[in-house]
Amino acid sequence: MAERAEVLQEVEGLRARLETKGDYSLGAGDPMIYQWELNLALLERAQQHLAEIEAALEQLEMGIYGRCERCGKPIEPERLAVLSHTTVCSQCAQRRR
Ligand SMILES: [Zn+2]
Repeated sequence: MAERAEVLQEVEGLRARLETKGDYSLGAGDPMIYQWELNLALLERAQQHLAEIEAALEQLEMGIYGRCERCGKPIEPERLAVLSHTTVCSQCAQRRR
């Protein structure tokens, strides 16, 4: 899965940038600190995204990817196209709300 490699690269890149924090002997409120915190937030989001992809890959390996985990019916292709990591069909998603 190309997307997994992409996100992995993003996580690595952000980690590398976060490691440079020690070089900044700057006070709070400094734009560099703000940038660092922004990177940290981005890293957390990328890691969460990665976890979702890993979960989807696991399901793929088990042969249940594209099937609703609630009713077991195939998830609509157009839904998967928009929400590639969804685990429920649109009907079950609506019922959940
Ligand atoms: Zn369903």
